[in-house]
Amino acid sequence: MNDDQLLRYSRHILLPQIGIEGQEKLLAARALVLGAGGLGSPAALYLASAGIGTLALADGDSVDLTNLQRQILHRVSSLGRSKALSGAATLAEINPGCRVVAIEERLAGARLEEEVRLADVVLDCSDNFATRHAINRACVKFARPLISGAAIRFDGQIAVFDSRRADAPCYHCLFPEGEDAEEVRCAVMGVFAPVTGIVGAIQAAEALKLVIGCGTPLAGRLLLLDGLAMEWRSIAVPRDPACPVCSTRNAP
Ligand SMILES: [Zn+2]
Repeated sequence: MNDDQLLRYSRHILLPQIGIEGQEKLLAARALVLGAGGLGSPAALYLASAGIGTLALADGDSVDLTNLQRQILHRVSSLGRSKALSGAATLAEINPGCRVVAIEERLAGARLEEEVRLADVVLDCSDNFATRHAINRACVKFARPLISGAAIRFDGQIAVFDSRRADAPCYHCLFPEGEDAEEVRCAVMGVFAPVTGIVGAIQAAEALKLVIGCGTPLAGRLLLLDGLAMEWRSIAVPRDPACPVCSTRNAP
């Protein structure tokens, strides 16, 4: 690290759990953030400001006025611009040392797999079940830790699925495909702006912890926020031994 980096990250370096060694791990790491909306905004802001070396930011949408209530990466001046480029511009103003790879598409198929393979940590900040399951399958295939977040109305949820661990559940173990509760989208149901910020910030915290290797990850648990009562609950997420996505991968 140069003098500028030592100063910029000094409040991390002061933490014994991070130190220079942990900060250097962040600078060497690549995070993939899928979705530059309500969750992806705070997640990307914290990852970039905290010193993640490379941040791939993928979103196929462009910024519209209804986004600005909660998607804090974007500005009035970005209306109509691709969210990936708008986000990259904001992040560059905060930390030009973070290399942002703007991907102006909703990643799927081989492109999704390639980006997951390149990443050290994957943050699912998307807003639909099809994408969530596709991201999960790619993370299981390439054994990449997945930090999943969701926010709707006043409710939030966060979980880490670390398929590098043999006993870890995957997203499909928790939410089997086909049994999906009807899709509830912010566009229809509404969402309380700060709830997306709380959830996205926790996703960033878990991603940073995983890269640094400090603390206990939010793995094997689903953290649930009731933003109206402002109460948290945590429930255990067991692995489904019959899960079609992850059960075969770790078979002896
Ligand atoms: Zn599974």
